[in-house]
Amino acid sequence: MKKNTPKQKKIPERRCTGCGGTFPKRDLVRVVRSPEGEVSLDFTGKKSGRGAYICPKLDCLKKARKAGRISRSLECAVSEEVYTALEEEIALMEKEREEE
Ligand SMILES: [Zn+2]
Repeated sequence: MKKNTPKQKKIPERRCTGCGGTFPKRDLVRVVRSPEGEVSLDFTGKKSGRGAYICPKLDCLKKARKAGRISRSLECAVSEEVYTALEEEIALMEKEREEE
């Protein structure tokens, strides 16, 4: 039996590769590996391919990078450029949160 209560609509959750916590998908940054094997950041959540998720926190990025969990999750190597782009984007997001 299902109740139709729109307020309780299930939000898709994903696990952060940094802290290991589970969060609503839209609160996480997605790193995606395209079918061609290219790793990029996905802020729309719509790119196709295998995805890894991370909190928009530099702490989580550091942990995920150190443990190599993003590349393990994507089953391919993650280049320095991807990490740099992630770092920049996450730093920006942290700054925005502070200004709120
Ligand atoms: Zn996290």
